[in-house]
Amino acid sequence: MKLLIVEDEPAIADVIEAYASREGYRTRWAADGETALELWKNEPFDLVLLDLMLPKLSGEEVCRRIRMNSGVPIVMLTARGSENDIIAGLDAGADDYVVKPFSPRVLMARIRANLRKNGETQGDLKSVVKVGSRIEVDPNRVEIRKDGQPISVTRNEFLIFSTLATPPVRTWSRDDIIRTALGDEYDGFDRTVDTYIKNLRKKLAEPGYENGWIQTVHGFGYKIDDTRPEQP
Ligand code: CA
Repeated sequence: MKLLIVEDEPAIADVIEAYASREGYRTRWAADGETALELWKNEPFDLVLLDLMLPKLSGEEVCRRIRMNSGVPIVMLTARGSENDIIAGLDAGADDYVVKPFSPRVLMARIRANLRKNGETQGDLKSVVKVGSRIEVDPNRVEIRKDGQPISVTRNEFLIFSTLATPPVRTWSRDDIIRTALGDEYDGFDRTVDTYIKNLRKKLAEPGYENGWIQTVHGFGYKIDDTRPEQP
């Protein structure tokens, strides 16, 4: 397993590298956003640890660019623990976050959890779930397809949509969605789910069908909407 550590403070990067190598991970370190993308382009990584405040290119921008073509787990490191900053990072495509100053042991646990979750979505060949006639959820490729075309989604967005879409279709509370899709260890709150749903809708919606195959059940949560007609 190889980790990309993107962190401009050498002291913090050193601590992370020391703990990571003790756990058997190989690491590469980038001290700014441009170097991070350069390394990312040239080497395969199993997980990215991403500081948000970086020289040259912000962590959010690095996250967005990695997400254009990869579902690699991204754990962001943020010194700004406010809800809005965390949501901005998740919006950019991060899967998880750790607030600075953090305990290296907690960070290692988060890394393990995110790698494990990724391994589970890449296990044996699983069946493709259909939503109506136009949407396919493919757990093997971690892909949502609309009319046969892959939609670019983050891993967490995929896990949430896939949870909602798995038969039998039912209404899910926000809490259930977090626990089932992202696991008990996931330190999320209700607004996190709303953010993921909003992003999914942005990616799936079309004129006349703004809900993007996801129905809001007021006062309760969400339900997959598989009643869409054929493509016009
Ligand atoms: Ca920084």
